[in-house]
Amino acid sequence: MPCGTLLAQDVRGPSPSNDPTVGGPPEHSLRNLDDSVSIAVASTKTDRPFDGQRAFEMLTRLCDLGPRPSGSEGMTRQRALLKEHFEGLGSVVQFQEFTARHPLLDRDVGFSNMVVPLHPDRNVRVLLCAHYDTRPYPDRDPIPGGRRGRFVGANDGASGVAVLAELARHLQDFDRPFGIDVLLLDGEEFVFFERGKYFLGSEYFAKEYVKNPPPHRYRWGVLLDMVGDAKLGIFQERHSMSWPDTRILVQDIWQTATRMGVREFIPQVEYEVQDDHLALRNIAGIPTCDIIDFYYPRPIGHQSYWHTRADTPDKCSPDSLAKVGSVMLEWLKTASVEANSPPPAP
Ligand SMILES: [Zn+2]
Repeated sequence: MPCGTLLAQDVRGPSPSNDPTVGGPPEHSLRNLDDSVSIAVASTKTDRPFDGQRAFEMLTRLCDLGPRPSGSEGMTRQRALLKEHFEGLGSVVQFQEFTARHPLLDRDVGFSNMVVPLHPDRNVRVLLCAHYDTRPYPDRDPIPGGRRGRFVGANDGASGVAVLAELARHLQDFDRPFGIDVLLLDGEEFVFFERGKYFLGSEYFAKEYVKNPPPHRYRWGVLLDMVGDAKLGIFQERHSMSWPDTRILVQDIWQTATRMGVREFIPQVEYEVQDDHLALRNIAGIPTCDIIDFYYPRPIGHQSYWHTRADTPDKCSPDSLAKVGSVMLEWLKTASVEANSPPPAP
């Protein structure tokens, strides 16, 4: 997730309670909410519950590959691992390739969004996305000497992918009138110490959707970013709540979580985040919200783990992945995705 996310708060001026980079989250997001896991899992009732442990294993496998910035060896290995995973579930994996200039070096870099269509025959579709590249360097590390160190992006990178990889198991035989595309976005933060562009993958995807319209239309988009935090507390993101077409989506998802007893989805608007949902919504016209816990854990008074070497699997948990995955699964089962209503034009 990009540094640009702090834009609005920078304008407003940070305060101890709303600057995500310092201090701590509001007290209520630090609760130990283990008791809600069983509620979340039980709500899937007749179906298999979302397996947070298996999602967490995916998260650790991705982190074990090491840093995975766009164009790197780690990214190549990750792409192969994920391709094998989704193909193993019976899906055909598509790659949307493009190039962009390296911000520091005199050369082009290859990028590739991964698209995994589930029930590709259905023309009304829902887009579930996460970025799968990791930031090249942990440039917010509290120790200056560590800022060119190793960044594996357990929460910022692997967590959203891990939830979607596990969710895809449940969606192979999904019985709703709409199809679903899992979209893994490349080039979300190909940024070197604030040099470079954010959102390369989502902007490319959105522009292609407008320029070369596919036969299907996306009714909704949901972006997962930083959803693995062991101390999970997901507030409603301000952009997602500011647009009428995505506000109803956010409210629907948070109401789903409330019904399930998943209190980590906190129905309160908090941070404003620049993220991949902006291009998908503003360029492609796909109403897309961002589900993000921007208050990555930090002991009170200490710096966030965000964009530091400390963004490692031990800061994430299977329970958190299970809660997010269970809410997404339940929302998909109940979402209003009218096959007969005209989907929004891009
Ligand atoms: Zn990031």
